[in-house]
Amino acid sequence: MSDTKRVYRFGSDAGGADITEGASSMNYTLGGKGANLAEMCRIGLPVPGGYTITCQTCMEYSSAGNVWPEGALAEIEEATRDLEARMGKRLGDPQDPLLVSVRSGAPFSMPGMMDTVLNLGLTDASAEGLIAQTGAPHFVWDSYRRFIQMFSDVVMGVDGDLFENALTEKRLVAGVKTDAELSADELHELVGEFKRIFCEHVSGEEHPELIQNGAVAFPQDPSIQLKLAIEAVFGSWMNERACIYRKANGIPDDLGTAVNVQAMAYGNKGETSATGVAFTRNPANGARERYGDFLVNAQGEDVVAGIRNTVPIQKLAEYPALKQAADDLERIFQILENHFHDMCDIEFTIEQGKLWMLQTRVGKRTATAALRIAIEMVEEGLIDKETAVRRIDPAQLDQLLHPQFDTSAKVEVLARGLNASPGAAVGEVVFSSDDAVAAAAEGRPCILVRWETNPDDLKGMVAAEGILTSHGGKTSHAAVIARGMGAPCVCGVEAIHIDAAAKEARVAGTDVVLHEGDIISIDGTQGIVVLGAVPLVSVELTGDLETILTWADEIRLEAGSTHPYHVRVNADNPEDAELALGFGAEAIGLCRTEHMFLGDRKQLIQDFILSDDTRVREDVLARLLAVQTEDFLKMFRVMDNREVVVRLIDPPLHEFLDAPRELEVYLTKREAAGAPEEELAGLRARLRRIDGMAEMNPMLGLRGVRLSFVFPELPLMQVRAVASAAAALIRDEGLVPKPEVMVPLVALASEQVQMRAVCEQVIDEVAGEYGVALDIPVGTMLELPRACITADEIAQDADFFCFGTNDLTQTTFGFSRDDAESKFIPIYLHKKLLDVNPFETIDKGVLELVRMAVEKGRSVKADMHNGVCGEHGGDPASIKALFNVAGVDYVSCSPYRVPIARLAAAQAKLEAEAGAVHLDR
Ligand code: ADP
Ligand code: MG
Ligand code: MG
Repeated sequence: MSDTKRVYRFGSDAGGADITEGASSMNYTLGGKGANLAEMCRIGLPVPGGYTITCQTCMEYSSAGNVWPEGALAEIEEATRDLEARMGKRLGDPQDPLLVSVRSGAPFSMPGMMDTVLNLGLTDASAEGLIAQTGAPHFVWDSYRRFIQMFSDVVMGVDGDLFENALTEKRLVAGVKTDAELSADELHELVGEFKRIFCEHVSGEEHPELIQNGAVAFPQDPSIQLKLAIEAVFGSWMNERACIYRKANGIPDDLGTAVNVQAMAYGNKGETSATGVAFTRNPANGARERYGDFLVNAQGEDVVAGIRNTVPIQKLAEYPALKQAADDLERIFQILENHFHDMCDIEFTIEQGKLWMLQTRVGKRTATAALRIAIEMVEEGLIDKETAVRRIDPAQLDQLLHPQFDTSAKVEVLARGLNASPGAAVGEVVFSSDDAVAAAAEGRPCILVRWETNPDDLKGMVAAEGILTSHGGKTSHAAVIARGMGAPCVCGVEAIHIDAAAKEARVAGTDVVLHEGDIISIDGTQGIVVLGAVPLVSVELTGDLETILTWADEIRLEAGSTHPYHVRVNADNPEDAELALGFGAEAIGLCRTEHMFLGDRKQLIQDFILSDDTRVREDVLARLLAVQTEDFLKMFRVMDNREVVVRLIDPPLHEFLDAPRELEVYLTKREAAGAPEEELAGLRARLRRIDGMAEMNPMLGLRGVRLSFVFPELPLMQVRAVASAAAALIRDEGLVPKPEVMVPLVALASEQVQMRAVCEQVIDEVAGEYGVALDIPVGTMLELPRACITADEIAQDADFFCFGTNDLTQTTFGFSRDDAESKFIPIYLHKKLLDVNPFETIDKGVLELVRMAVEKGRSVKADMHNGVCGEHGGDPASIKALFNVAGVDYVSCSPYRVPIARLAAAQAKLEAEAGAVHLDR
């Protein structure tokens, strides 16, 4: 037997005295509802008397296979007797009965748990007693029929429709529109009918305790009613709906739910009584106004059930009989906000003019409202700026930055995929980048539908409103680029089978075939595809976001702090750089130079790779140098006085070459067309060379720094372009360019040593040519486990570290990021082999590699800078871990995620300062 307390009392007794044994801090013992009922009593608000049975009792009951722990029933029995004494009424009393509600309440708000049962304690005898007491037969029969209905449905699992149908029929026969208009006699008749339904549908075998004179009867003993209701709440913790909800929301299964047993307040005692729900501020836009609804002469869920037309809460004071309660409510709104320092939602009932509080909790709100409320509460002195910053959910900011499906629109999902880049888009289906460009040129919005995208698709991705791929995960090319552009993207929609040549796509499991020009809508926030046009809404960006982010910046960059948390951006062109500055990026953490080789320049790089002729190669290099220098000039101008980390050429070469299969098809066509032998020979030679470059595992192949040893001219040309642009800006425009050169995919310290030597030689040459001093650091991109493990060696010749956590995740797990997310990660998540997708939120093993490398690097160079430029740099949970656990100095993310990163970094800093994490630095 355990000696822990199982029952906590709360609320007012008949004489108005209060008892409080709990508090809001006891969420895990009393559940959210019970803890806050206790808290409301503690601060002197009117709460009907009651008691809460602990969550732990539920867990013991449930783990024992629905068997009561020893002593628990006796303790509840005692609490019930005590409640009767406090209220001066007894359950089932034929003169003046006590009625109670039985309410579930878990530590986290959980739909799917058992519903509330009201008016428990009504029996044939106590109903008569209540009539005698109140002289209000209409109210009593209404309460009784509600009780039988709820008890049957919620506790015994009888189909609720049976009762609704009987009720509807009664209204039809009586010729009235609402339940409230039924007469007392008609309600009395309904009680009889409801009891009959109960007896017909409850099995005596399962419930022998309900058998009376050989047949099931509606229980006339309130203690049986109460025991069954409590057991039903406990049992509902493990019901399927609740388990699914917990799994989906990451709520542990071993918390249990509390049960609140509480004396009824009657909102259905005529025109002086009412029931309602309200928020202390507007949860949609955050305005400082009361928000909510009530109903006169009604009970419980009538307000949300939508059976009758509710009245806005502002009108409450206009009802003379309710004026006093309205004033009290207004005062309570203030008390609640002053106490919880937040916007609260409440449930209340007015019984014959007297206000009773039945529930409160911190209210849910939209992103817009969250910002406004936080800022106004700072202005009102209710909270400080730190609290305001802590309170905004970074993930919720996405709502503000991208258009969404209008939630009032009816949407039928055609297919599902990964929610790869947030926001929604509507447009005509196109199957190639050229078609996307053509459609956009004619002003027709389009959605680019591809098996997978590659760097060649960039122009089409820019032209399209949104991107849909049937293959690839959240760090596939399409996803990364779309996020960078802020374009909606749904990836890995495996049900869509694309025939790009025929310009159509079959949708598996349906008879839909998408043709070019068909209108579809995609929602990259949810990962869904819809046939036809769904109306879109954009949330208006107010200055509130800017205010919160400015406060966030003050926190994360606090002057004098030994470890400011910086936020940079991944940007490859001046437009993105400018956009990101507007979003508050401090510098560029990753400039990928390969995007500078696309478009017209692709031919140049192809000629370079495929040609044996040194003169051709030299000529190509000279032209590439000119255009790249021009690129960097523009980039460094925009980013004057701010760091720009330029990564040397990185991707596998095949990304720049023609796809061999396509080239083969073209060759065959030209052969058939009888093209001149000279042309055909050229094509064949080209095909041979491309075939010769094919690799089994391109992502583990000739890429990154390895390219620099096979084609040394390429990276040196890039370094020369970087240095020349910087030198020209210093000499000719008086600017302060701050480029940094980053060597990708380093595994060996020797790679870094050799690369750095040649880079510095070029930089020195350029400095000499321009007659200026150039200080361009050369750092390492760490994205291989070997590099992290030997980071102290590499640090000897690296001026900074930046972690490419996409590749580092890929190489640490040995998961291909292009395939894993569509092939088996969902199964791993489902089977709980993984808690989170490691490409989305940084894995602890990968994090440990980063932490270790940072530590090893600093052991060699104490003031070395460490950054992160993978997709994790834009994920709030990863941002916190990277700063607080791994100890990096900055994260770098795509432009649209910069606001989210600023907020998450500030929250990380606050957590670190609160001592939630320890960092030895
Ligand atoms: P939920 O978790 O679904 O909100 P509640 O336990 O809060 O369920 O109950 C729903 C509604 O039932 C309350 O909002 C209130 O209107 C009514 N209710 C619950 N307990 C009482 C009570 N003791 N007196 C009057 N109404 C009650
Ligand atoms: Mg409630
Ligand atoms: Mg990489």
